[in-house]
Formats: sequence, C-alpha cells, structure tokens
Amino acid sequence: MISGTIFDIKRFAIHDGPGVRTTVFFKGCPLSCWACHNPEGQRPGTDLFIRDERCNACGECLEVCPEVAISTDGDAVHIDRYRCNLCGACADACLRGALELAGRSVSVDEVIAEVERDVVYYDESGGGVTFSGGEPLFQPEFLAALLHESRKREISTTVDTSGYAPHAVIHDIADMVDYFLYDLKLVDEDRHRDFTGVANRPVLENLNWLSEHGATVTIRFPLLPQINDDESNLRDLGRFLSSLAQLHPIDILPYHRIGAEKYARLGRSYRLSQQPVPAAESIAVAVRLLEESGLTVTVRGEPYAIE
Ligand code: SF4
Ligand code: SF4
Repeated sequence: MISGTIFDIKRFAIHDGPGVRTTVFFKGCPLSCWACHNPEGQRPGTDLFIRDERCNACGECLEVCPEVAISTDGDAVHIDRYRCNLCGACADACLRGALELAGRSVSVDEVIAEVERDVVYYDESGGGVTFSGGEPLFQPEFLAALLHESRKREISTTVDTSGYAPHAVIHDIADMVDYFLYDLKLVDEDRHRDFTGVANRPVLENLNWLSEHGATVTIRFPLLPQINDDESNLRDLGRFLSSLAQLHPIDILPYHRIGAEKYARLGRSYRLSQQPVPAAESIAVAVRLLEESGLTVTVRGEPYAIE
C-alpha cells in the first residue's frame, strides 16, 4: 500500500485549476522560496503550529509533554522546538485548538476516498482533483499512484508544481495529468538560486519538455516588487516562454501577505516582513511586457483590467 504525507485536503477549491476541485496538499518541497505562503508544506515531516491568540495559558499541554518542551509566561505558551519530538500530545490536550500538528501520513485509498466525495461537482463544473503542496513531485510514487487511481475513476487531474524534479519524474507522470499549473519566478540562474535555494535549469528544461510533449500548462508567475518585477526578468521570462513549442498562457499572481502569520506560528522568521505588495502600475507593466512577447496574460486568473 503506497502512502504519502500531506498537510491538508481542501474541498470546493476554485483557484487550483478548472471548475470545482479538491486540492490535496503534499508535504515537503525542495525549494525554500522566500514568499512561500504554505510554509507548513516545506518540510517533509510534521510541524507544530502555535496560535497564541487562542491560548489562555491553562497549562494542560505542559502536563502531557513528555519532553518538557513547553513553558508559559502566563499569557501564552512557548515551545522549545529543539526538545519537541512532534508527538502531538499537546495538540490533543489543548481544548482551544491553540496547538495543531501539520502533516499526516495517508494512504492512496484514503485520499481517493476523500476526492471521490465530490465527483458530482467535478462533473458539473469541469473540475477534478489538484495535487499541490509543498511540491507534489517531491513524493513521486505517491503522486503517480494518486494520478493513476484518479484516471481509473475518470477524475480530471491537475498538478500544481514548481517543476523542480528529476526529468524522469515529470516524464513518468505527464500522460496522467490533464493540466499543469507551473510556477516560474525568475529566469536568471543566480537570482533564482538566491530566491528559491535551487537551480532553475531543471525547472526550465522540464517545462520545455512538457511543452514539446503536448501537455496543457498554465504558467503561474508570482509578482514580487524588487524581487522579480524588473524589466530584465520580465523580458527574459517572455523570451523563454515564447520560445517553447506551445504558447502557454501566463497568470500573474501579485504578491500578498496571506500566509505570513504562519511563519510565526511555526516559530520561523519571515524574510518578506517588509515586502510591499505590487502597485497597480507594476502589475500593468508586467502585463504589457509579457503581452509584448505574444503571451496571453491574466491576473489572478482573470483577464487584466486596469486597476
Ligand atoms: S492547552 Fe492550549 S490553551 Fe492551554 S496552555 Fe496549552 S496551548 Fe494554551
Ligand atoms: S508535540 Fe509532543 S514533544 Fe512537542 S511540545 Fe507537544 S507534547 Fe511536547
């Protein structure tokens, strides 16, 4: 029985591909993008969230922690994350939901059973299942098994990916995927490495292959002021995309702060705490430069309208 690690399953998703979808969030990602809005998806194992605003310092969690990793200052709790073994006893003990584990091991059958609940909505809306993350390609056997089982049930499949994976992984799943949502952030190798922690060559090469292979792909471009909104990156992006075998549409996703508070809940620092959101003018420039490369450009999934 193949199993994998996920941190969420979201039903009735409407921004993760066509129609109404169930999105399965894989845990673990080889990238460490500064702007990641699902930081609980980055590490392969379990994470522990603390929601200070829910804690009334009752002390129940201190009583059950086998590692004596929890302390309180009378207002909230503090976790010594070096001591914590992520057993989850504190989360079970907390009646206020202030502590929560992110990440659980699930079988393919369990995921498919959840996905199958909404087949009627997929059929009515042209939707299906989306495998997202984290990075779904980071658990290739689990992903392949889920795609296979979805296909057997005639459930349409989308993979939402950074594209960073050995080519064999992309090659082996491509024919079981109806639709790819493919993130591109920066074209320059050094800047990409700086922002994501990994090289972009596999990302570009895998996309090049998918395009030649006839895959249906929408590019997703997170627009981040002072990080990737400069003319040089936008022109490089346009040049690269217009050189592919197909002219794939590109959806601009202006940076937002949703997810920033999760870093604090995980005890991590957020590198973009001072990051501005894109000005309307910056979005307009990005649209224009990408359109000049012959691309069909949308913003947040919608045709661009001047803001
Ligand atoms: S059990 Fe929950 S509410 Fe009580 S101290 Fe622990 S985290 Fe806070
Ligand atoms: S997850 Fe387990 S070890 Fe970690 S703080 Fe909670 S009870 Fe303690």
